[in-house]
Amino acid sequence: MRALVFNDKLELKQDFKKPTPKQNEALIKVKLVGICNTDYEITKGYMGYNGILGHEFVGIVEEINGDNKSLLGKRVVGEINLGCKNCEYCAKGLERHCPNRQTLGIYNKDGCFADYVTLPLSNLLEVNEKINNETAIFVEPLAAALEILEQLHIKPYEKVCVLGDGKLGLITALALNASNIDVTLIGKHQNKLDIAKEQNVKTMLLDNLSKENNKSFDIVVEATGRLSGFETSINLVKPRGVLVLKSTIATGKELNLAPIVIDEITVLGSRCGQFASALRLMEKDIIDFSKLVSSKLSFNDAIIGFEKNKEQDTIKILLEM
Ligand SMILES: [Zn+2]
Ligand SMILES: [Zn+2]
Repeated sequence: MRALVFNDKLELKQDFKKPTPKQNEALIKVKLVGICNTDYEITKGYMGYNGILGHEFVGIVEEINGDNKSLLGKRVVGEINLGCKNCEYCAKGLERHCPNRQTLGIYNKDGCFADYVTLPLSNLLEVNEKINNETAIFVEPLAAALEILEQLHIKPYEKVCVLGDGKLGLITALALNASNIDVTLIGKHQNKLDIAKEQNVKTMLLDNLSKENNKSFDIVVEATGRLSGFETSINLVKPRGVLVLKSTIATGKELNLAPIVIDEITVLGSRCGQFASALRLMEKDIIDFSKLVSSKLSFNDAIIGFEKNKEQDTIKILLEM
């Protein structure tokens, strides 16, 4: 089968061995995949991962190794963390925090940038026919956005700001807006802000921020991944407010944490979420994901897709098998 493999360099292999599903796993024929920034980070050394890349896919279950065949022939998406099923986190359904987990295309488990991928049946969710592949492919980032609502009870009168208009910021703002929350997206790129604005999200250019905006949001979601974004977020949040960190900020610079103490700000880390709630929101068809797709290429052009992913204006690159 074809597979996009990272082994110190990125290579599209034509004759990679097709995987065999283990007990209670399914073999999935991949139909559509999405390139994520994490994939790009891996090609720069993140996680020290070598193997087939990719964790965002829509596919069809072609084979099941196990007694429960209910998903056979079904169109599915798959949760990316494979827990050990033996620890306290797995027992609580928190496979994404299992200390012994494997992560699809990120850690110890071949990813989905290939003609076939295997996953445990318990990771798979059937996609309702109302949701097309180009929407379903966003299930992982949408689930990550909705994780905020699992962690925080946002009250109807509270004002929320999402800082950063990249993929994650855009999807987070759209998801909170679709959940009837008073949200403002702040970013540097008018063209990206407009995608949210067209879908009735309040937006603001970073350049237009003034002192008046300081301490004006009950909850600020940091989605820029930059230290400057972190600093702006601290300025924007009200005393006793919540700062949600959605992006991992790698910095060697010194960080002034005094405002967090002075204003008694709660800092909340937030990462992956549950796919089922993301799929439910997609079924309601409130968010138009098509505007987030910058281009759809053939899987044979996967390397070109990775190059395109680096461009400033790119939001999401899809690869069709
Ligand atoms: Zn991703
Ligand atoms: Zn576990």
